[in-house]
Amino acid sequence: MDVSSRLAKIKADIEQACERANRLPEEVKIIAVTKYVTVERAKEALEAGILHLGENRDDGLLAKWEVLKENAVFHFIGTLQSRKVKNIIDKVEYIHSLDRLSLAKEINKRASRKMKCFVQVNVSGEESKHGISPEEVTDFVKQLEEYPNIIVCGLMTMAPYTKDNDFIRTCFRKLKELQKMVQDLNLEHAPCNELSMGMSNDYIIAVEEGATMIRIGSALVGE
Ligand SMILES: *Cc1c(COP(=O)(O)O)cnc(C)c1O
Repeated sequence: MDVSSRLAKIKADIEQACERANRLPEEVKIIAVTKYVTVERAKEALEAGILHLGENRDDGLLAKWEVLKENAVFHFIGTLQSRKVKNIIDKVEYIHSLDRLSLAKEINKRASRKMKCFVQVNVSGEESKHGISPEEVTDFVKQLEEYPNIIVCGLMTMAPYTKDNDFIRTCFRKLKELQKMVQDLNLEHAPCNELSMGMSNDYIIAVEEGATMIRIGSALVGE
């Protein structure tokens, strides 16, 4: 199926989920995750009306950025090694995977402007997942004040890969609670008004639970 038909379906799903949750569809941005696909396919997504592109490796990001930088806003999603920060920092608008102070330090050092970062939280507690634990969020966010180039624009999580929708929902709901907790700290460096959650198999639940950015790969551009 072409990207625009897939996008139409996803948008319809978002609208219905928003209606159920009493939200406005405009509150939800779609990030097309292009890590599995060619530059051509990413371009097709932009032509279908996508603005945001997400990549999880520096080389993949660079390949798309070279060609599409005038037409897209780039997001770094997924694990970020500190030594790769310098390769991507000037090319992305958002980093979705801030999960340790050593990484914050490197981003702070390499950034030539304030960088919008999501703190990645391992809500489900799965060992295979990156991210800080829910209990650590407050302290971690407070500690980021030391790095003037870092803005905590929101929280990010990946739900477990499971058919248990109730468990997925619990994870997203928990991230929303953590967001409120951070917002209540009233920290200038941490407005935390975004929630990056929801992928191809769980974006509808994520939107119902308050996602403002959903990261969709296979369901939108293919694998
Ligand atoms: C690959 C990836 C996605 C998109 O996954 P799909 O299931 O293909 O939608 C979203 N977020 C992160 C962090 C990813 O690595």
